[in-house]
Amino acid sequence: MNCSACRSRLGQRRDDELSARDSALVDAHLASCADCRSFAGRLAKIESTLVRLAPIEPSGDFTLAVMAKIAAMPAPARRPARFWWLLVADIALWAAIGALTALGAIRWKAIAGGVAAFAANSYVASGTLYDVAKDLHVTNVLALGVGVELAVLALVAAFGRRLLPRFRAALAGVLS
Ligand SMILES: [Zn+2]
Repeated sequence: MNCSACRSRLGQRRDDELSARDSALVDAHLASCADCRSFAGRLAKIESTLVRLAPIEPSGDFTLAVMAKIAAMPAPARRPARFWWLLVADIALWAAIGALTALGAIRWKAIAGGVAAFAANSYVASGTLYDVAKDLHVTNVLALGVGVELAVLALVAAFGRRLLPRFRAALAGVLS
């Protein structure tokens, strides 16, 4: 048996897991090899030291103490939610639409004509489309839509900062 085979079997020998033949071979090698005897001695010393180490048992109130310390820690500063960009983006969008319309880049009449032509091609008479639009007061509906959107954006800008954390907490409660 060589040195490496001997050393790799020392743990098994200690645990009585070696066959009688292997155990005898290890013993024979240790008797003839000072290096491996020294290695086995160091190994035994380390093992006896490890055995003497007292296992660490957390105290009974360990979890409570940790949780109490966490509770006592200052809450991380919450970054205030910002909504102004929503308002700015919306105003910019309407300004862009207005500017493009004024410059003639967006031709609403042409678009309406295109939609009517498409509808006509789709076997819906353009006259019918016009009547439907008139009946639904499309212009009024559009104006109302813009007004409602602006009102919602104003509300979000005014109260969103206060309402969002509450909404978030409610959502977290529902999800948990
Ligand atoms: Zn050896």
